[in-house]
Amino acid sequence: MEKEKARLLELRKTIDELSYQYYTLDKPTMTDYEYDMLYRELETIEKNHPDWVTPDSPTQRVGSKISGGFEKYTHDRPMLSMGDVFNDQELMEFDQRVRSDLGGEDLEYVVELKIDGLAVNLIYENGRFIRGVTRGDGRVGEDVTNNVRTIRTIPLHIDSTSPHMEIRGEVYMPIQAFEQLNAQRRDDELEPFANPRNAAAGSLRQLDPQITAQRKLAFFAYAIGGTVGIDIPSQEALLEDLKAFHFQVNKEYRKFKTMADVITFIHSWDDRRDKLPYATDGMVVKVNSFAQQARLGNTVKIPRWAIAYKFPPEQARTKVLNISVSL
Ligand code: NAD
Repeated sequence: MEKEKARLLELRKTIDELSYQYYTLDKPTMTDYEYDMLYRELETIEKNHPDWVTPDSPTQRVGSKISGGFEKYTHDRPMLSMGDVFNDQELMEFDQRVRSDLGGEDLEYVVELKIDGLAVNLIYENGRFIRGVTRGDGRVGEDVTNNVRTIRTIPLHIDSTSPHMEIRGEVYMPIQAFEQLNAQRRDDELEPFANPRNAAAGSLRQLDPQITAQRKLAFFAYAIGGTVGIDIPSQEALLEDLKAFHFQVNKEYRKFKTMADVITFIHSWDDRRDKLPYATDGMVVKVNSFAQQARLGNTVKIPRWAIAYKFPPEQARTKVLNISVSL
């Protein structure tokens, strides 16, 4: 017991420090997989000892504290994180829980690639882009409007008369742009970025929009926030509407009726995801119907109608492949 408590405190400290390096400094010092495993360990201890959970535990918040430099903006509706799973068994458990919560009724899933960038909230009033905000700690983000304006795939005008519309999605750096940027940084004797996600985050949070403009960032839209006067029935319909508004929507999404088909689709990416021109760290499985999503609801931190399946890290994958070869 004493030992477990000490481990809990140690994990919280380590995870807080890693989050600071990842979210605030854009300089991770550990792989995402290693981080995810520490986080899981903490979650497990807290699950076994619910009375040890405190509001300042990293399991109770999204992202990290936000840094100075930008104005803060409070999201109309919080920008949540996502529960994650690492294998087929956990996907099946998610499916069982969702079906049971919906009383056994039929449902569909939309499966999207999980783009490894950073989530932003774009606000449009009467069709005009007026503000771009990072997810930040989920409740309050950084106002990066002038930097967002430099991203060519973000429309500054959309064909909508809604007085207030929030479009959410992922700002990312295409692999080619990332490699060029790092080559340039090495030439300039600057430290290269650890991965495209950190390069994207570092580029979007530049105080000088001229620098952001040179960084070739792009944006995939996949969600809608507090929105007035728009009635959309499902994730699939939303993605179609986003395309009609001229947002870039990742074209690899598919719809399925069973988790078995979802799993087959997810594994169809095992060998080809490395060939994509942008980085992905997994796949997101979402209940399609917005009415069912609303019934499933959210926890303070994550939606209960979606789950992120995380791809195994490169080294673990190589290890698995080696083992199967030597068998
Ligand atoms: P997450 O990355 O596990 O999942 C939620 C995020 O997925 C959303 O906020 C959104 O930005 C993104 N996303 C991408 N494509 C999406 C799509 N199609 N639909 C919906 N969302 C999509 O959660 P998180 O809270 O952003 O970050 C936690 C993760 O960050 C950890 O699991 C870990 O992998 C990484 N991390 C790593 C370190 C480290 O030291 N390496 C430290 C902190 C966090």
